[in-house]
Amino acid sequence: MVPSNDRAAVYRTLGVKPAITASGPTTAYGGTKLRPEVHAAMNAASQVMVDMAELNDAAGDVIARHTGAEAGMVTSGSAGALVLQAAAVVAGADKAQMKRLPDTTGMKNEIIIHNLHRFPYDQCYTSVGAKLVGVGDFLRCLPWELESAINENTAAIAYLVAPFVAPYAMPLPEVAEIAHAHKLPVIVDAASMVPPRENLTRYINEGADMVIFSGGKAIRGPQGTGILAGRKDLIEAARANGSPNQFIGRGMKVTKEEVVGLVEALNTFVTEDEDAENAAFRAKSQRVVDALIEMPGLDVEVRHNKKDWLIPSAVIRFTDDWAGPSRENVLKGMENGGDTKIFLHWLAGPDTLAVDPLNLDDDEVEVVISRLREELLRNE
Ligand SMILES: *Cc1c(COP(=O)(O)O)cnc(C)c1O
Repeated sequence: MVPSNDRAAVYRTLGVKPAITASGPTTAYGGTKLRPEVHAAMNAASQVMVDMAELNDAAGDVIARHTGAEAGMVTSGSAGALVLQAAAVVAGADKAQMKRLPDTTGMKNEIIIHNLHRFPYDQCYTSVGAKLVGVGDFLRCLPWELESAINENTAAIAYLVAPFVAPYAMPLPEVAEIAHAHKLPVIVDAASMVPPRENLTRYINEGADMVIFSGGKAIRGPQGTGILAGRKDLIEAARANGSPNQFIGRGMKVTKEEVVGLVEALNTFVTEDEDAENAAFRAKSQRVVDALIEMPGLDVEVRHNKKDWLIPSAVIRFTDDWAGPSRENVLKGMENGGDTKIFLHWLAGPDTLAVDPLNLDDDEVEVVISRLREELLRNE
């Protein structure tokens, strides 16, 4: 019998293993733990009806205030926001054009993107009928390459900001300068770039006409939400294309509870003490490092910077001297070797694993440490 205070019982009674997600806010591994105050706000909102247009206006004002943008809206994740960005720059708020998507006949439908910024989510752009035009090669992009791709069919320039991406892409302010000289908007995806909290206003300041953040990553709002902020006319167009309106974004509904939850999460997130938060993340990561530091052939350290390791994380590099089980087997063993799945961060490179403490309480850090030692010391 599962004790009633065992929260994992909701999964175990379905025959589903609970997980510990040390990979950061990965959607496939549950995303993040919802803030308790967000849960309370959502619960209350779920029992009272509201005019969604009025609620969306109010949420937009909150988002505008925290991002420094003219306007904002809550979306169905960053992926939903990418769809609405594209719909907004291709069809605008013209109902006849909006209704025709993904047929873009007669509309400007090219979105220019650094080849370095092609990413697994860019299908969200093409889903509304936009065509991606790649610029630059796979090392860098030069201003003339961007300039020469602009033509009368160009709708926007897309820009990706994400960890482990493209050190030699053109900086956003330069892209924005070129775009604006041609009266084109720059649409930015910065889904996972907060914390640091200063990034909430950064990309608008650097010239983004629209920017995206996930509500269900480190902001710890409802897992299915996102934030779209930017120029008033573009946000109006994005809203026009989205739910509750019956256009291409109708399938990406955001409910009243989710809107209220995102607002609550964002309002809480911006008031938190980031230094204290980082100190707590660092302490957890340091415990992992201390537990593995003696293992010959592993480089283990806490890493924290403004580009890749936005949250202080325990980074484990398998050097050429490592004689234990392969990185892949450690990753698989952590996932499948116990009665709880443990997901590690694997994105930083083929010789690296990491423990991101975002989703870990103190007990979970201990479980991760003991299971990691077990897998690393396993004889193959
Ligand atoms: C996580 C992420 C997304 C998807 O975000 P969701 O909120 O899960 O839809 C899109 N783009 C980038 C760059 C991301 O990091």
